[in-house]
Amino acid sequence: MAKPIPCVTCKKIVAPTEHDFPFCSERCKLIDLGKWCSGEYTISTPIYDPEVLDEVARAREHAGLLMQEDELHQSRWKN
Ligand SMILES: [Zn+2]
Repeated sequence: MAKPIPCVTCKKIVAPTEHDFPFCSERCKLIDLGKWCSGEYTISTPIYDPEVLDEVARAREHAGLLMQEDELHQSRWKN
């Protein structure tokens, strides 16, 4: 079982049961995703448990999928 970790964006402690884990909120999740997309992040992630890193990767993947759907939806409206 993963343990609470600081929100990736704002460092507030987030329990693994939180909906937006490892983020404290949808907002922090989107902010983090934006950083990845803009290349702001370098490889400087603090060392967490492997299972926590796994959770983070899955959350990012999930957020990325949601983002893509959103973009598809938007471009459909533009055309
Ligand atoms: Zn946060």
